[in-house]
Amino acid sequence: MAADPAVQLAPNVWRLRLVGDFVNGFAFREDDGQVTLVDCGLKRSPDRMSAGLRSVGIAHEDVTRILLTHAHSDHAGGVAEMARRTTAPVSVHSHDAGWVRAGKSPPLDQSLRLGRLMQRLMRKGKPAFEPVPVDEELTDGQLLLIAGGLRVLHTPGHSPGHASFLHEPTGVLITGDALFNMRGIGFSIPFFCTDFKLSRHTAHRFSELDFSVAAFTHGPHVSTAARTYVGEFLAAYQAG
Ligand SMILES: [Zn+2]
Repeated sequence: MAADPAVQLAPNVWRLRLVGDFVNGFAFREDDGQVTLVDCGLKRSPDRMSAGLRSVGIAHEDVTRILLTHAHSDHAGGVAEMARRTTAPVSVHSHDAGWVRAGKSPPLDQSLRLGRLMQRLMRKGKPAFEPVPVDEELTDGQLLLIAGGLRVLHTPGHSPGHASFLHEPTGVLITGDALFNMRGIGFSIPFFCTDFKLSRHTAHRFSELDFSVAAFTHGPHVSTAARTYVGEFLAAYQAG
C-alpha cells in the first residue's frame, strides 16, 4: 500500500508527500476552512497534491493562496496547474518573482565547476517550468495572515529570493531548500544554488529561531528535539 499522501505536522498543518519523502509540499488550514499551499512540487505532482488534500478533507475550492519558497522546477513545477485547479493567487519573494513569471530558474553558482557545467546544459531560453503570474511579492520579516501568522524569512543563496516560512502558532519551520534532510541533515546541494556560500551562511538564521517542527522540502520532517537537531548541525559547521 502506498504511504499516506499527507502527514499532519500540527493542528491544521500538513506535509504533502509529492514524491515519497523526497519532494514535499505543505498545507495550512484556517479556522474558516481556507487553505494556503506552500510549494507545488514537480510538473507531475498536482494529481498527488490533490490526492493529499482530498485525504484530509480539503477541496480545490478551499485553497485561496499558494506560496512558493523559490523558482526551481521541483517546487514551482506544479504551480501553474495547481493555480488553475484552485484559482488561488501565487506569492513568492520579490527576488524570485521575475523567474516565476518567466518560468525560469535563476543562474547557478558560476564559482563551481558543476554549476558552470549545469548552466551550459540548461538550454538557453527554454522555460524550466510553466510560467505563472505572481500576485504578491513577499519581503523578509513579513507576517502573513495565514492560520494565525506565517513569518517570511528571506534565506537567499540557494536562489536570490529563496524564502523559508515559520508558522508562529505551531512552531512549524519550513526550511525550503536552505537545509535538506535526505539521509541526515545537510546544506543545499552546492551546484543547484545561485550562491552556495550565501546559502550556507543564511541557513544559520534558523539557529536564532524558536521552532518545534523542522519541515524540509526534501526529506522527512523532524518533530522531536527539532531545534537541537538543526542547531547542532549548524553549530558543528560553524565550529569546523
Ligand atoms: Zn531548489
